[in-house]
Formats: sequence, C-alpha cells, structure tokens
Amino acid sequence: MHEIIAAAKAENRNLLEPEAIKLFQEYGLPVPGFKVAKTKEEAVAAARLLGYPVVLKIISRDILHKSDVGGVKVNIQSDDAMAAAYDAMMEDVRRRTAAEIEGVMVVEQADKGVECIVGMVQDQQFGPAIMFGLGGIFVEVLKDVSFRLLPLSREEAETMIKETKGYQLLKGIRGEKAKDIIGLTECIVNAARLVGDNPEIRELDINPLFVYEQGLKVVDGRVLL
Ligand code: ADP
Ligand code: MG
Repeated sequence: MHEIIAAAKAENRNLLEPEAIKLFQEYGLPVPGFKVAKTKEEAVAAARLLGYPVVLKIISRDILHKSDVGGVKVNIQSDDAMAAAYDAMMEDVRRRTAAEIEGVMVVEQADKGVECIVGMVQDQQFGPAIMFGLGGIFVEVLKDVSFRLLPLSREEAETMIKETKGYQLLKGIRGEKAKDIIGLTECIVNAARLVGDNPEIRELDINPLFVYEQGLKVVDGRVLL
C-alpha cells in the first residue's frame, strides 16, 4: 500500500489535499508548487519562497468543499496581503465550522485555462470507472461527461475526450488555438493508473484541471478512501 494512503488509513481519514497532490505528482500529473504552513509567519515565508501571486487554502480532514467555508483565498500578491488573508481565513473557517484545522497550503497560482474534470467513481457492478468532462456548465448543467472502466488505454482516453461536446472548446473554436489534448490524454491515463494501483481509493476528483495551449495544471484534488 502506498505510504500516503497507509498513513491516512491508519487515522481513518481521507487524504488531505497536500497528500493528494503529492500522490498525483508521483503519478506524473502536473501539479503546482506548494508548501504547507502551520502559522501565519510560515505562510508568509512559504509565499516568498514560491513567489507571488499565490493561493491560500485551508487544510482540514473535516472540510471537503473549502470555498464554502471561506477556506480558499486567491490572487495574494504581497506579504501583507498574505498575513491579512491568513487571519481572515482562520476567522471565517472557525466561525462557519467546528473543523479541526491542520494548517494551510500555500500554492503557486495557476493561470486560467479551460477547466476540465477528471474523476473516478466506483461502480457497484464493474468496479472503478474513470470520468472526464469540461468543468462548469458542461458537467453541472449539460451532464456532458464520458466514462470508461479500467484498465484504460491511451486510445480510450483520447476517445473519452473526443466524445464530449466540450471537446469543441479544446479543439479551439472561432480562431482560438487548440488546447493540449495530448497532455490531457496523458493526465487521464495517469489518473487511471493511480487508481488501478491503489484499490483503497473509493473516489477521486481532480476539479478543476486547467488546460492550456501547452501544458496543464491540477488546481484541486480530492482522494476519498
Ligand atoms: P474547493 O474545495 O472549494 O473546491 P478549490 O481548491 O477548488 O476549492 O479552489 C476553489 C477555486 O479557486 C478553484 O476552482 C479555482 O478557480 C481557484 N484556485 C484554487 N487553487 C488555485 C491555484 N493554485 N491557482 C489558480 N486558481 C486556483
Ligand atoms: Mg475544487
């Protein structure tokens, strides 16, 4: 069993976001640089090392949707702004939840890209299935997603992308350049490999994954055991 998963299992919890991101990184998924901090001073020092702008995120085993409780602050541009964001976040989160707070994650801010989602759900009958879709209205309103069972070949991953309506956006419409579909295919294959190697994972969610003309970035990751 992977040591990150074993440690979480021993405490009967899901992976914390920095653990999920570390696991993603080991499987070749493109993740932003980040540091974990336990105090405001550490958070400021981390931001300096990473370089502004950065994003500040709460780390808690009890919080699944960080934004809902004031647990994400984006576009932090200076030491002062980081210190203020840290105080505001702690106050917000403590007022809105009784969650146990492990610390914060200071993360390199990724440029906006086309928002995609890569996920895994367990099918009762067939086992793990990989899901792909574009984020926002594509998945929420149009339910424009594709699914495949494991194991997943590169060809199948490519077909998953191409069979969504959102593919039109990735291909580049109205004179826009095409996005990195080869990189995206690789991400889906790597996520499938991660899931296949680690049967303890009950649910996985990369949302959003920003896709650029060249390259892509995992911006948020959840791994449930
Ligand atoms: P939640 O737990 O609420 O889903 P996320 O980590 O997804 O929290 O953060 C909420 C939003 O903030 C993201 O959907 C994205 O738009 C933005 N965001 C988070 N992290 C980054 C980052 N590293 N770079 C750029 N934008 C980010
Ligand atoms: Mg998210």
